[in-house]
Amino acid sequence: MITNPFDYTAPASLSEALALIAGGAKPLAGGMSLIPMMKLRLASPEHLVDLGRLPELNYIRDEGGEIHIGAGTTHYDIESSPLLRGKCPLLHETATCIGDIQVRNRGTIGGSIAHADPAADYPAALQALEAKIVLRSSSGERVVPTTEFFLDTFTTALEPNEIVSEIVVPTEPGLTGTSYKKFYQPASGFAVVGVAARVRQEGGKFSLVRVGVTGYAGSSYRAVSVEEALLGKPANAESIKAAAAHAAEGRDANSDLHASAAYRGGLLVTYMIRALTSALERSS
Ligand code: FAD
Repeated sequence: MITNPFDYTAPASLSEALALIAGGAKPLAGGMSLIPMMKLRLASPEHLVDLGRLPELNYIRDEGGEIHIGAGTTHYDIESSPLLRGKCPLLHETATCIGDIQVRNRGTIGGSIAHADPAADYPAALQALEAKIVLRSSSGERVVPTTEFFLDTFTTALEPNEIVSEIVVPTEPGLTGTSYKKFYQPASGFAVVGVAARVRQEGGKFSLVRVGVTGYAGSSYRAVSVEEALLGKPANAESIKAAAAHAAEGRDANSDLHASAAYRGGLLVTYMIRALTSALERSS
């Protein structure tokens, strides 16, 4: 299908882009989700503002114990960044799992999280990393924790005049192990269920556990019940298996042609165990 007609502006600066967005224009990043939606007439914006050419949104920087990632950074740039591979391997690993090389070359981390597809991969990793999302408008900036950013299916804390400008991930000293495991939807590569885990152990016991889930429910979430069930417990397979049973607590499962709710529930427990086991191995 052909899209409805629309105006297109490639702004010269972020402030110009923000002024146009304040006037009702819609941001365009990699176009990997927005353009198909426009072709299907699920979205019909009258004016697109192309953020994809703005160097102000395209960077990965290590600053004072945090890594700052511009919203316009592509999945490929995240996948191939030596800085992320060394200091935030979970984001590197997650980016390698997204779609195919064409999607990773065009799609951006800002576009992915703003779109908030319930099966997208980054949200699980950002939940586990306790990342902060920086939102900007022409009148200022605010910072939202990942747990408060993803509200529901295709719904985030973004106001209409705001963009995602940056993702901030803390770097941590010491032996923290991370892992992302997902059950791929065979056609697109999206996560039918995906689990990101981040763990530390001290004296043979779990001293830190953070787990992010995507694909299972209407939006990504931190599996806090699993985290609580593991904290202080022996760092072994038995503890992980017992805690994984809590993975769906308080959440309603998605059900679609790729997986029924019951099947997703089974996948969630399996991928929770796999992600935690792999993260634990990497933490020692
Ligand atoms: P766009 O499509 O340009 O925009 C998406 C939405 O976000 C629009 O509403 C737009 O207005 C808004 N937006 C864009 N940037 C910003 C910003 N900075 N601030 C505020 N709003 C903004 N994703 C996965 O996670 N895993 C997969 O396995 C996967 N497989 C895919 C396979 C295919 C074939 C395709 C086409 C896509 C796939 N995706 C997958 C989605 C892909 O990751 C997209 O890159 C992503 O969803 C959207 O990013 P984008 O930069 O293309 O954003």
